[in-house]
Amino acid sequence: MAHSIAIIGIGKITQDQHLPVIAKNPNFKLAALVSQRGLRQAGVPTFRTPAELYAALPDVETVAICTPPAVRHAIAREALDAGKHVLLEKPPTPTTAELDDLVAHAARRSRVLFATWHSQYNSAVDEARRRLAGRKLHSLHIEWKEDVKRWHPGQEWIWDAGNFGVFDPGINALSILTKIAPAPIFVKSAALSYPANRDTPIAASLVFSSLAAAGPASTFTAEFDWRQEGEQSWNIDIETAEGEKLRLSHGGSKLFAGGALVLEKPMAEYEGIYAHFADLLAAKKSAVDRAPLQLVADAFLVGKRLAVDAFHW
Ligand code: NAP
Repeated sequence: MAHSIAIIGIGKITQDQHLPVIAKNPNFKLAALVSQRGLRQAGVPTFRTPAELYAALPDVETVAICTPPAVRHAIAREALDAGKHVLLEKPPTPTTAELDDLVAHAARRSRVLFATWHSQYNSAVDEARRRLAGRKLHSLHIEWKEDVKRWHPGQEWIWDAGNFGVFDPGINALSILTKIAPAPIFVKSAALSYPANRDTPIAASLVFSSLAAAGPASTFTAEFDWRQEGEQSWNIDIETAEGEKLRLSHGGSKLFAGGALVLEKPMAEYEGIYAHFADLLAAKKSAVDRAPLQLVADAFLVGKRLAVDAFHW
């Protein structure tokens, strides 16, 4: 039987992906929306708060939490306490301790907790992981540069401390990195560029160390920037110790080897997320990969703060 699911937070990603993907997946049935603004969808009730939903429809089994990350821990705890299985949008929580708390609480309550990383659901990412398994790397460079005005118009929350700033997209690249890296990666140093009038970074440069390094001359770096006009770049370039060159481009949906396209599939990230969620619910198993969040937390721990021009929409 289909799992009944409610969505909490009916913003851009809920409308672009969660609603249409749930509608196509026979394993799920949309039961309700929770929207502070009272957004509606034909055929299902809307509640202003999760508590109102849980009181009115106690049989709803699962919730997908698609709010900004800073408020997710309390909403997820409340859902687990109400006996719901929980899917979390990325990044799951602002701190690693809050995520660990949710993992422990879900286990205590025997509920499924699924922390999603949508960029991991690409065939090209799986193929890159396969090709890099057991290899040593000479270099790795992430270039994740996009125009915040184009992709987050009017989303003031991205500038609030605890909501990640440029790491909101950057953590997508890091979720690919932690999936494909043949050995653990650590943040060695970081430079975080804060606009004079904002509380989260608009750009970040990271230097990593890695047990996958081929030797002392190996370089592992990332550049995240929200000030990119014109062509947008979501690329990861890797050279193995043997000199094989791989490029994951377009957010991880295309893989090039030695300059030639070897794999490209239409993006179906959220289809993959909900297929995996159905499997987890059937197996009553949680899936929480904390590695991407740990890298961001570590970048904030070791990061040097740089002041840059004020940001205005
Ligand atoms: P958004 O358009 O601003 O939507 C977030 C929604 O959450 C708001 O519209 C609001 O919906 C609700 N909300 C806002 N503040 C809240 C609060 N304090 N407490 C409870 N609910 C609140 O943002 P988004 O782009 O959908 O991003 C949401 C999350 O999805 C982020 O973590 C982001 O990283 C992730 N994500 C976004 C994209 C994308 O393309 N935008 C892609 C992948 C992942 P209601 O008024 O309906 O309650």
